[in-house]
Amino acid sequence: MTERNLTHEHYMRRCTELARQATETGDAQVGALVVLHDRIVGEGVEAVRAARDVTAHAEIEALRAATRSLGSTDLTGSTMYTSVEPCVMCAFAVRLARVSVVVAGARSSDVSRPLNGWAVLSRTDVLPDRPVPTTIRDFSGAGRTWPALAAPLDRPEHVPVAFVEAWNRRDADGIAALFDADAEFVNVTGLWWHDREAIRRAHAYGLARIFDRSTLRLGATRVKHLSNDVVVVHARMTLSGQTATGDVACPGTRTTIFSFVVHRTPDGWRCASAHNTDVVPGMETNVVDEEGRLRAVDYRKDG
Ligand SMILES: [Zn+2]
Repeated sequence: MTERNLTHEHYMRRCTELARQATETGDAQVGALVVLHDRIVGEGVEAVRAARDVTAHAEIEALRAATRSLGSTDLTGSTMYTSVEPCVMCAFAVRLARVSVVVAGARSSDVSRPLNGWAVLSRTDVLPDRPVPTTIRDFSGAGRTWPALAAPLDRPEHVPVAFVEAWNRRDADGIAALFDADAEFVNVTGLWWHDREAIRRAHAYGLARIFDRSTLRLGATRVKHLSNDVVVVHARMTLSGQTATGDVACPGTRTTIFSFVVHRTPDGWRCASAHNTDVVPGMETNVVDEEGRLRAVDYRKDG
């Protein structure tokens, strides 16, 4: 891991501990902290229920603690770590306090959490006299891995993790960013894209039209090193929530297996080629029938 990622991991682990404390009072599982010159200057535990205070989000609590301990409302140079995406209110407070960097963990799985605050963090016109912080998004992985699209992909197995994260936030740019400019991608029906822009366009369409409410989950991953700098990563994934089509009103869950050919670059591991195939339980191969339709078949049963 790079030094920067180790630092992020260290502080995000503390956020996770704080988030766990919040659950003890029945609050949403969110923890946050403010770091200045590599020292924690404020910690926050979500306390809306505990304090009967609708503004007591973990990030606000961390800002309160930081401004109190520093005796200043100007937190220039500081980094806010939060275990989830900050909401609009917290993002606005981060801007007011001139926080310089925001590192966020998982996308919030709690639907009752307010709208995320990335627009507030990133748009100058929201607060023209306050700086726009650098944001490092999706520093997540359920405590298992800690990759982030904005940070270097420092292990080959982070490529499918980042792919899944980008998919689940409908981020075609984030998916495209995993690929080389001249990368190849073959999808499940054999559509074959020959560069990053084609991969981005295809995913922007798919994530808006076919998979706009889908959830992709990562299963078993296998890593095969071909050399120090070239690795093949296979990953099983399940896809639920696909959009209805034709006579399929409620599409079921698909299992798919991806293979990624990844290589080391100065900016971390990147994908030269990806291909995925669906798992068709019990079937051996495909056949084209007399009407020209492709069907999965099992010769052991069909003779
Ligand atoms: Zn908030």
